Amino acid sequence: MNVLAALVPLLFLAPPDSRPDDVRIGLFTLFKPEALEVRVASGEGASLAAPGVQSSRSIGRGELVTIRFSGNQLHITLDARRSLVATEARIIPIGSAALELSLPGKIKRTVRGELLVDTGTGGRGPLRIVLTTGREAAVASIVAAETSRRETEALKALAVVVRSFMLAHPGRHLSEGFDFCDTTHCQFYRGEQDLSEIVASAEIERAVEKTRGEVLAFEGRTVEGYYTAACGGMTVTPSMLWGGTTSYPYRRVSCRWCKASRFDKWERSAGIGQVLGALSEFFGSRFSVSTELAIDRDHASGFVRSITVADGTTRTTLTADAFRRAIGLKLGWNTVLSPTFTVERRGQRFIFRGRGFGSQIGLCEAGAIAQAAAGRSYREILSFYYPGAGISEPPAHE
Ligand SMILES: [Zn+2]
Ligand SMILES: [Zn+2]
Repeated sequence: MNVLAALVPLLFLAPPDSRPDDVRIGLFTLFKPEALEVRVASGEGASLAAPGVQSSRSIGRGELVTIRFSGNQLHITLDARRSLVATEARIIPIGSAALELSLPGKIKRTVRGELLVDTGTGGRGPLRIVLTTGREAAVASIVAAETSRRETEALKALAVVVRSFMLAHPGRHLSEGFDFCDTTHCQFYRGEQDLSEIVASAEIERAVEKTRGEVLAFEGRTVEGYYTAACGGMTVTPSMLWGGTTSYPYRRVSCRWCKASRFDKWERSAGIGQVLGALSEFFGSRFSVSTELAIDRDHASGFVRSITVADGTTRTTLTADAFRRAIGLKLGWNTVLSPTFTVERRGQRFIFRGRGFGSQIGLCEAGAIAQAAAGRSYREILSFYYPGAGISEPPAHE
């Protein structure tokens, strides 16, 4: 038990967004959690602070803290004995202690940083779980979640793009009380897990350290850094996929470097009932089994401009990205891998064939690895996928 930690008055607890090099990540955002278990996984311990509690309480290593949402309040139990009721709770690790978080029966994650748990928007639940952690540490975790490879120059290139994404998208979830979510909507974040489990973690931390603070810049602004597992031979632009424009003039890049990737060309299939079920759920209407899918594609590259779902005389048109999301949410992201695909009805199944994996925008990770293996530097790799962009330290105001 750490006596000092128990005596730290609330006054001295820094607010979670006080340091400019910190980021706030909303955790478990897909799970709508009602209960959270927290343990100090490694290190000295942590302290727990809640409004209305005179001084913070110390949490020893291994001690279990349970936080449950009920009746618009948090019910916090320490070590199954002491309990309190509050509207928010902060868990502050001592030194570099790591916290193990668990949604009972669902998912576990180990993180480093300060944790804020509250009753969600308007106090109506579910639990809002926000981790405040160093930006560079978050960059390392996100790079580790993306790849288990150890080609240093590719890792450095990816680190710069991941960091650029963060700095170019401030306040992406501001109304929800954090900067970024932990899903691919922002950048896939799994805390310490990826860094501790893969052998390349030391290389990743070195790659992040060697590019510390570096971002892609164009005309004095940080470029919105996007990346994709494999571009399939030709990248696409954000405006092709989502409409609108960006301050960086993205253009399509022809990439032969990911040719050896298993995602260069792919084929997947799914039951017709499953696909139509996913689309029905997405649109909130029921499609009959005779529903057809018709694709409008760019003939040169095969990029899907739009896909029309035709059930008798009823026609609904959506973008390739919306279609992938509709299918992915229900059937998983391994069904329609990219926005460049064809669809064919065969028996009771739809057959999808396509190229690339992911959004196909920006840095092609498989291509970057191949370029690094061929001896190209991270600067050369970045200028290949981001022509015209430079690398700079972020401006002071960011
Ligand atoms: Zn997000
Ligand atoms: Zn590529």
